[in-house]
Amino acid sequence: MQQRKAILVILDGLGDRGNPELDGLTPLQYASTPHLDSLAKRSMVGLMDPIAPGIRAGSDTSHLNLLGYNPYEVYTGRGPFEAAGLDMDLEPGDIAFRCNFSTVDENLVVLDRRAGRIKEGTHELVEAINGIKIEDVTFYVKEGVEHRAALIMRGAGLSSKVSDVDPHGTGKRIHLAKPLSKDAEKTARLLNEFVVRAHKILENHPVNIERKKNGLKPANILLPRGAGMVPHLEKFEKKYGMKGACVVGAPLIRGICKLAGMEPVDFSGATGSYDTDMRGKFEHAVKSLNTHEFVLVNIKATDIAGHDMLPRKKVEVIERIDDAIGYLMEIMPEDTVLVVTADHSTPCTVGDHSGDPVPIMLYASDARKEGKEFNEVSCARGSLRIKGSDLMNIVLNLTNRAEKFGA
Ligand SMILES: [Zn+2]
Repeated sequence: MQQRKAILVILDGLGDRGNPELDGLTPLQYASTPHLDSLAKRSMVGLMDPIAPGIRAGSDTSHLNLLGYNPYEVYTGRGPFEAAGLDMDLEPGDIAFRCNFSTVDENLVVLDRRAGRIKEGTHELVEAINGIKIEDVTFYVKEGVEHRAALIMRGAGLSSKVSDVDPHGTGKRIHLAKPLSKDAEKTARLLNEFVVRAHKILENHPVNIERKKNGLKPANILLPRGAGMVPHLEKFEKKYGMKGACVVGAPLIRGICKLAGMEPVDFSGATGSYDTDMRGKFEHAVKSLNTHEFVLVNIKATDIAGHDMLPRKKVEVIERIDDAIGYLMEIMPEDTVLVVTADHSTPCTVGDHSGDPVPIMLYASDARKEGKEFNEVSCARGSLRIKGSDLMNIVLNLTNRAEKFGA
């Protein structure tokens, strides 16, 4: 049996519901998608519940589940995956947070949660507060894009069961982190002390003095949220016997892949926004097949259109994806297994993730040819009705890598 390699394309938030602006069709039904449809005709098709029927999956919990890591066991919060996505070094047991650089007044009331969408200077600000030690706990900070950052607490006796410091709105005083369980008292106490100590340093930092002079909002506080404990994930290669790579713009998804031991393939066009270079992503995925057996590609633009509640924008994004899929089919080595699916639905009528199942197709040169068109309704007539946690088993089978159960 010839073992094959696989590309898993996750069109983030692709699934949708019938939209009144699109004659009651989903954006995927409405869009003109000759390449995706032609692929469906040569693929096994069906519907997938990213976690379980009706469960509204997050991108993080869904990606974990699709890769075979039970989110109910390994997921305590978003922080660790954001931090890993920013290439911070993490150790199992660390507590990690996503953060915003924000602007507060002298009473710690939030004036701007994004510090005027600060573009420059956060690296210098981070340097001034990175490595602070309080008692036996060290705080590590790293900047992300614009006002975004991540924070790690490393030390003994820490817990992820603490509430957010970020009040999630302007005009509100920052919240003190509260312990949500008895063993989280130390974590909450030290986190609050760090936030105040960092605020004093940031307030008087030259970057902020300069900003104030120029009429810009100072990035004078770091507001943590989304606490999570860094989980131990069995390495993807050990789990599946395939070296994994990922071509992903969104730091959260990149972080999940990284914590699973997959290798990120970065290039300037690999963004997590509307302007992402889709053809470029597939080009890099195909190149990665020279050194890896499995490549995950995530395209976030479909999800953004769903959150923005813009069905016609979602149609346009899907048609761009279709063009890139046509290109992928031209450059992909023969006998690669190609899976196209989504991590959850983000219906434009909802503006957020929903629990509706997503379409899936699995192409291999000898796959059963089941599909007609690639969309939520047509795929429902295929053979598959699976959960996200079934996906890797099916990939192992189609790549001729599954171990036989029994004689
Ligand atoms: Zn998602």
